[in-house]
Amino acid sequence: MTDGQRQFFQISALILSLIVLLLLVFSRASEVGDGITKTDTDVDLVFPPQVKNNVVRQIYDDLPNIDITSWEYILCNPAHNIGQYTPEVVQVESGNSYFDTRAVDALIDLLNGARTAGFYPRVYVGYRSYVNQASQYQSQVNKFVNDGYSRLDAEKAAAEISAAPGTSEHQTGLGADLVDRYTETLSGFTLDPNFEAWLNDHCVEYGFIMRYPENKISITGRYEPWHVRYVGQIAANFMKMHDLCLEEFVMLY
Ligand SMILES: [Zn+2]
Repeated sequence: MTDGQRQFFQISALILSLIVLLLLVFSRASEVGDGITKTDTDVDLVFPPQVKNNVVRQIYDDLPNIDITSWEYILCNPAHNIGQYTPEVVQVESGNSYFDTRAVDALIDLLNGARTAGFYPRVYVGYRSYVNQASQYQSQVNKFVNDGYSRLDAEKAAAEISAAPGTSEHQTGLGADLVDRYTETLSGFTLDPNFEAWLNDHCVEYGFIMRYPENKISITGRYEPWHVRYVGQIAANFMKMHDLCLEEFVMLY
């Protein structure tokens, strides 16, 4: 090997070493870069609830600022048994129906609004106490037991006809079945379509929602075009605007 060749190899080795060194430095830098990325991810992980809230507020930027635990938002269904909840109730007009004292004026305003529009509404069923509900439910269970059902099957069958105690919205004192003078028949409720349409369009103005509309059966399990529920005007407007039932509304909080 000549001196020239040796020098060439030495320079080549030096250049190679430099390249390796540079590669090492770069790979370190990229590791540091990864480190920074990980730190960023950690920072993101610290704030997911805020991000989630932003998402909810972006979808419903008009979500009312309310106390969802307040009495007018009480949720009562087979999944939310309200036990022996007993509101203070008062007689509605001169009928046999009772309603939550705090919301009865709104109900009377709704009835008067319907009268002004040419209908003759009255409350068919308003508040029903836990004890009343329990006895109604029990008599249904007894009927099925007498028909030869097992106790368990009788309770299941009865629950489809009459809500189990603690699960009927009528126990909240905020739900009412409304009928028109022409539409109450022995076969049950067949609501005048004009009255039904008026209720759908106007109950919100009085702080009411249609509690069991047809398009929410998959959530509520019921379709009752005669059943109105007081939630107050703020919530009623919001739920109507966004086509939400009470179950969906409560879940936003
Ligand atoms: Zn009802």
